[in-house]
Amino acid sequence: ALPQDTPQRIQSYSEALEAQQRHRLRLQQAIRGATQRGEMSLAFQPKISLLTQEIIGAEALLRWHHPELGHISPADFIPLAEASGDILAIGDWVLEETMQHIVTWRKQGLLNDRFHVAVNVAARQLTRRDFAQRLLDRLAAYGIPERFFALEVTESGLMSDMQNARIQLAQLAKMNVAVAIDDFGTGHSSLAYIKTLPFSTLKIDRAFVMDIDKNPVDRQLAVMITQLAHAVGCDVVAEGIETAAQAAYLHSIGCEAAQGYYYARPLPANEFIDWCNHWAPVLPPLTAMELV
Ligand code: C2E
Ligand code: MG
Ligand code: MG
Ligand code: MG
Repeated sequence: ALPQDTPQRIQSYSEALEAQQRHRLRLQQAIRGATQRGEMSLAFQPKISLLTQEIIGAEALLRWHHPELGHISPADFIPLAEASGDILAIGDWVLEETMQHIVTWRKQGLLNDRFHVAVNVAARQLTRRDFAQRLLDRLAAYGIPERFFALEVTESGLMSDMQNARIQLAQLAKMNVAVAIDDFGTGHSSLAYIKTLPFSTLKIDRAFVMDIDKNPVDRQLAVMITQLAHAVGCDVVAEGIETAAQAAYLHSIGCEAAQGYYYARPLPANEFIDWCNHWAPVLPPLTAMELV
């Protein structure tokens, strides 16, 4: 039988809800100005070619350390910042900060011509009419060739203002800023947009990678996503690779690149560069994983 909803249960439930609401509100207030107060930083996670094992780029991931609340996950605060509109200022900060890192790394001769840094872009940013132009102007001001820079957008990010997103992304793609669809397969998507939007990369979400050695359905989905991407001229990056077996399987089905803790966690800029300098490409293991 179901537990009875006693008055105490109802009260503690609504108290928990209220506490959660208060916490959200507190976070939402704390986000405002967090970049100016120096509480935010970027971490970089390498992307590795499954064909050559070379580093082909990195993804910039936002980190927030609040003086009292400690580390707060972007999965928790990005949606709040989207709702409040603060994501616009934060997104600008992420773009600026990433470009400054690219400039520094290029000066130090650390980036070869095939290396790009990708930034995640929120739905709200893609509703701006001047998003692409401002980004291109910024790159020009920093003297960064467009191909060093890339964007990741989610399916929901595209849906909120498809018309404008299309215009903005087309303008960027024309200028060689690569655009990836992030978390592919997890959002509310229509396959139609894959055909009509200028993506160069499709990222397989970690949800399909996690259990790939145990779950034949996940393997089938990974195969299908990879074939779909190739059919529309995109390459494929798999997210959340944690084991050699996952890497080997994705390599075997033609997935071009991978990211995940197996290679490296997202690292602060200086550690990221150290990591890159010590990365010794090893060819993928020839032993196939044991499929269950
Ligand atoms: P995402 O863009 O799909 O990023 C991948 C997430 O998976 C990152 O979480 C990364 O740390 C995590 N990850 C990478 N490899 C592994 C792995 O092997 N195992 C596991 N368990 N996790 C792995 P993170 O950094 O917490 O970011 C979460 C999400 O927050 C991102 O998902 C992205 O949607 C959003 N985000 C992060 N930074 C930004 C930003 O600057 N702007 C916007 N708009 N969104 C951001
Ligand atoms: Mg991403
Ligand atoms: Mg992703
Ligand atoms: Mg994901």
